[in-house]
Amino acid sequence: MADTAGAPVSRADWVITGDIATMDADRTIISGGAVAVANGKISAVGKADDIRARYPGAPERGSADSLVVPGFVNAHQHLTADRLVASAIPDDLSPGAAIFEWIVPVHEHVTGDDDELSATLGLVEAAANGITTTIDAGTVAHPDRVAQAMAEVGVRGAVARWGSDADGLPQSGPVSDVIDAQRDLIERYPPGGLVEASVALVGHDLMSDDLVTAAADLARSTGRRLSFHLSPTPDDATSYLERTRQRPLVHMDRLGVLGPNVLVGHAVHIDDAEVEALVRTGAAVASCPWAYLRLGQGLTERFAHLDLWRRSGRLALGCDTENAGDAIDALRAAALFAGLAKDAAADPTEFGAHHAFELLTIAGAEAVGMADQIGSLEAGKAADIVVIDRSGIQWQPPSPDPILQLVWAGGGRSVTDVLVDGRLVIADGQCATVDTDSLRTEVRQAAQSIIERSGIRPCSRWPMR
Ligand SMILES: [Zn+2]
Repeated sequence: MADTAGAPVSRADWVITGDIATMDADRTIISGGAVAVANGKISAVGKADDIRARYPGAPERGSADSLVVPGFVNAHQHLTADRLVASAIPDDLSPGAAIFEWIVPVHEHVTGDDDELSATLGLVEAAANGITTTIDAGTVAHPDRVAQAMAEVGVRGAVARWGSDADGLPQSGPVSDVIDAQRDLIERYPPGGLVEASVALVGHDLMSDDLVTAAADLARSTGRRLSFHLSPTPDDATSYLERTRQRPLVHMDRLGVLGPNVLVGHAVHIDDAEVEALVRTGAAVASCPWAYLRLGQGLTERFAHLDLWRRSGRLALGCDTENAGDAIDALRAAALFAGLAKDAAADPTEFGAHHAFELLTIAGAEAVGMADQIGSLEAGKAADIVVIDRSGIQWQPPSPDPILQLVWAGGGRSVTDVLVDGRLVIADGQCATVDTDSLRTEVRQAAQSIIERSGIRPCSRWPMR
């Protein structure tokens, strides 16, 4: 907490008031506090009276009823195509059918305009729920249009392009072509801006050893993140054991792929040796608990992410994709993760709301390699700030432990204001950067068109008369 006594009067673009959950090293919560924002950065955090005296006349957001928290990190999100058929994919399909009979046909028929619209829709929803940083888990066809959507909505993020050298997959090709395409994307979105790019592979058993090794070399030599999917189900372990006689993450470790710049999507069905490889190398995992439950993937048989957390492994939360977690709401994911952790351990004392909230903020930022910029409300960090209104009936009476109440009883519905890099993206619950009336109209038209073109047949389970 900054000591503002005697500080000279300065200019601020915003002063954000409320109880401030700083997520600093001591997890200080400043009652009746304020955050001053100037030039996209947090310039001071302290008691509201001190901050107002130091920054007189600055426009204010928030109120005495507000809880002010760092913007949330969504470490695994697919933004294109299937967002346009939101909650249309049934929840009782056999394994793989959601992807091959529903998502693949949609992806085969989307245009660049569709992908940008889909990403805009997803990012506006994410921002309205307090997500300020989104790590794209891999865009099949149009990563530049996703980057364009991030810029239009005004949120922080990393775009990525699907990479695979497996036969028959869209955008797959020889190793050299895949690596050239990855290099092309990361060179166009360097670190330091609001939108950067990661090196990304589809993962699973859809990457040769040559490809994943070359991708790891590219990521390491350019200082970028490498992400890929692995082991959301037991299937990847089966195919790696057949091909390499090793479990997937042990194999990745022996190839020299794993390191602190690696973000593995899922890693649900992993054994102790794989947890050990993650901890030892510092590779991080993006856990998307709603996806594993929506798809019935056996997460609760053994909650390996809790083991990873117990061993101080690096972990963040994600909301994944439309067939596997219909809401882009990080607080819903945090509450679910906390509940799963308590239940899997059959012990409520070990992991709770506050640990889950760390995964959304400072620990999540650390897992995606951005903790120097985001994840806490401290002077010098980017002004990615979420204001939560606690005047609604669901907040009555306000708890003396605001984070306990936010995680278990909150959800994105109480978010009123969101700043990213000091810019107001959500104001009074409405998107300030995108015309959502036009977005709604465009999305409905595009959805009808993509359903017709792709041949999928979403309908109500129960008769509609
Ligand atoms: Zn994914």
